[in-house]
Amino acid sequence: MHNFKFQTEYINSLHVDQVEIEKIAATVKTPFYVYSANQLKNHLITLKNTLPDALNYFYSLKANPNLSLVGIIHQQGVGCEVCSLAELETALAAGASPAEIIFVGPGKSEHELSRCVALGIKAVVVESLSELALLNKLAENAGVVQPFAFRINPNFTSEKARLVMSGKPRQFGIDEHLVLETLNHLDQYPHVALEGIHIYLGTRILDAEAVVANTRNILSLAETIQREYGVTLNFVDIGGGLGVPYYPRETELDLDAVATGIEPVIREFRDHFPETKLIMELGRFIVGRSGMFVTRVRYLKASKGKMFAVCDGGSNCHGAAAGLGSVIRKNFPIARLGTAHHAHDVQHYMLTGPLCTPTDLIGDDVPLPQLDEGDLIGIFHSGAYGPTASPVYFLSFGYPSEVLVDGDQLIVIRHADGVEHMLAQQQPQPLAV
Ligand SMILES: *Cc1c(COP(=O)(O)O)cnc(C)c1O
Repeated sequence: MHNFKFQTEYINSLHVDQVEIEKIAATVKTPFYVYSANQLKNHLITLKNTLPDALNYFYSLKANPNLSLVGIIHQQGVGCEVCSLAELETALAAGASPAEIIFVGPGKSEHELSRCVALGIKAVVVESLSELALLNKLAENAGVVQPFAFRINPNFTSEKARLVMSGKPRQFGIDEHLVLETLNHLDQYPHVALEGIHIYLGTRILDAEAVVANTRNILSLAETIQREYGVTLNFVDIGGGLGVPYYPRETELDLDAVATGIEPVIREFRDHFPETKLIMELGRFIVGRSGMFVTRVRYLKASKGKMFAVCDGGSNCHGAAAGLGSVIRKNFPIARLGTAHHAHDVQHYMLTGPLCTPTDLIGDDVPLPQLDEGDLIGIFHSGAYGPTASPVYFLSFGYPSEVLVDGDQLIVIRHADGVEHMLAQQQPQPLAV
């Protein structure tokens, strides 16, 4: 067999926690995502125990907005970073209080901002001066003072992130010099109160030294702001973007090295500014390993020397495995699931889905024990940026099921779209104009 290095005690090719995968797949129609509650909880406990105590954590719902998963994460004492009205309502429904929610995003609507103001969330992270002016007006209309944070596009950048979000022209945040300038004119916005700053440098960082360097740069800017502009920041959000290895040759982020590296940086900052709380904002790192995508081989066929395993769910459910959003696609950790019922001869397979497009390839020449039609295939490390980041409506297959294993319990946490539901959304309705 292969890929054992990706298997954990929580999710492997036979079990998710205490439940056999073959039993799950006999109960839930494939394709589906399955998550381990214990993996999620224990991973968060490890994260908190490893990194310095001074850090507070916020979960980026963008990575996986499933209500039940957000509930589990929030129960571990993690706040919510949301980017849309639905994410905001999900955070509340999952048990987060407004004081535990920050709202980020470059294009917030007036309706979303009004809801933030009505709730009085911890901070609206503003990404333009126009947005700040609008927020100020909405808070004035509501007769409140709404806390906000500046999302800063700093002059420095992060070289080690796979997707860089700052340090160059970007729609995210406000350029550093403009933030500094605005700090001298905050009295123009009397209905909002500066709570903090937010800097998000990039995603999929697997290099401990890069996390340390980012933290050092951000805290140094936070220090300048507090010293030279006479403001007090209640929090500094240092972003996060910690990665999860997916591909061959990618190695696990060394969390111990991150801890050792940022500890003195954080201690020095906190010595000078004990009032300022530090926030780390994480999506992928929190949920990435907690989920597996399960798809079933429908047909096996040979074509011009290659063996194809056509599965019932492909890139429509798991865009990332098909390379959506990456320049070149590489194989995620993939295994055949369940007990082998025949010889262990290894063969190479092209794993494809049901779409009528050649890009529907979720595994390229993957070595697997000889497959039969009906076999289950698992794609590991699929808890983040799964179905919500995939074209689930392409060819009208709809959203797949999501299930949670909690110890020996199996719980549906999102139902697959039915055909009736998808058609009902399209009933023509004349509008008055
Ligand atoms: C996407 C995003 C995150 C989460 O990124 P991960 O790489 O999943 O941790 C956090 N903050 C902001 C502002 C984002 O846009």
